[in-house]
Amino acid sequence: MSLIVQKFGGTSVADTERIRHVARRVADAYARHPEGVVVVVSAMGKTTDRLVEMARELNPEPIPREMDMLLATGEQISIALLSMALQQMGYKAISLTGAQAGILTENVHTKAKIVNINTDAMRRFLAEGYIVVVAGFQGITADHQITTLGRGGSDTTAVALAGALEAPVCEIYTDVDGVYTTDPNVVPEAYKLAEISYEEMLELAQLGAKVLHPRSVECARKYKTVIHVRSSFNSREGTYVKAMKDLEVHRPVTGVTLDSKQAKLALRDVPDKPGIAARLFGALAEAHISVDMIIQSVQDDATNDIAFTVHEDDLNAATAITRQVGEEMGAGETVQDPHIAKVSIVGVGMAGTPGIAANMFQALAEGGINIQMIATSEIKISCVVSRDQARQAVQLIHDTFLIPEIDDELALSASGSSEGLA
Ligand code: ADP
Ligand code: ASP
Ligand code: MG
Repeated sequence: MSLIVQKFGGTSVADTERIRHVARRVADAYARHPEGVVVVVSAMGKTTDRLVEMARELNPEPIPREMDMLLATGEQISIALLSMALQQMGYKAISLTGAQAGILTENVHTKAKIVNINTDAMRRFLAEGYIVVVAGFQGITADHQITTLGRGGSDTTAVALAGALEAPVCEIYTDVDGVYTTDPNVVPEAYKLAEISYEEMLELAQLGAKVLHPRSVECARKYKTVIHVRSSFNSREGTYVKAMKDLEVHRPVTGVTLDSKQAKLALRDVPDKPGIAARLFGALAEAHISVDMIIQSVQDDATNDIAFTVHEDDLNAATAITRQVGEEMGAGETVQDPHIAKVSIVGVGMAGTPGIAANMFQALAEGGINIQMIATSEIKISCVVSRDQARQAVQLIHDTFLIPEIDDELALSASGSSEGLA
């Protein structure tokens, strides 16, 4: 058997009893994988959220470097406690921070990308029979600054380590039984998918299905690592994220997502001439702000309105940049709308099935939900709606497209949010 990488999320390590339970699962894996087990853990429970709150109490706009310094501590608690639990059970275990595990990132704070992993230290410990416990979500820059990979980034640590260590499978243990047709905590009728392609999972993750961090899926696709998303509270098979041929896909729509972390910005009365959009979006890109949906509406012959969405955490920085660029270009006012959400459908079978978009819009219309923006690609359709109608929108769209099929394991909503320990 080969080496395996396992990752346990925040809920799975929320208290010492759960950490002990995780230690037992890791020990089981060690018995099955004598070549070695690498375990990645997240911060305990809501630790990261609490750290963010404390930072904001002291400073509403903390410097990203200090944010990383703070947030990286959460995972450090978990690795030490899990190693202690394993040692108490008689196993050789060692905890490593991102830096000690050789995870080198680019020089960007709060959303750094991994650029290289030096596996020497991990391999040395594995060869000596240690279970290696690595802090998720963090790394180090070439000039020794601690960085984090963006919220939910422990998944990416795990899959990147699997790639670097040539482990064929990365197990992601979480608080749901696998990847569902939509968030089972929003739509009780959602059901678990037995398997899903990298392409569809990447879209779902990018569009807000937080069960996997988007970059973890990119990484898995690149190194052909199979991700097995499963529950840490039972031993049922979860969802396999893997390479799939189009022929294996039966449905036009595989999943529905909700992203409630988006915010909208509009720059009014923009002079209608070449180069303006390039300048605005160039300035935002330079500040490492990703822009998602963009709409340019023609107002009259001479001016346009440009509206776009960004992550809500970037709203203030994006507003300041937009205002400045707007003033330089002689545009009108910059207007914020933080009360939006994006609902999307994803499916590789969508391309060959006419009428999918119309059905989605019809579902929203029947619920009296206004669509503010629309974006489409070959395998997804997204609509921006008001945030207070977003959950209803997801329910309506799920009812329209996703009725359980025989080849997908039916999952009861109760198992989707199981809190008990198996
Ligand atoms: P962890 O702390 O283990 O990383 P997360 O909270 O980041 O867990 O991700 C798991 C959560 O993702 C679930 O509790 C669920 O609410 C949410 N989620 C959103 N979309 C989906 C989906 N399509 N399938 C499963 N879970 C989803
Ligand atoms: N602890 C980090 C977060 O809450 C990383 C993770 O859990 O993946 O975002
Ligand atoms: Mg997560």
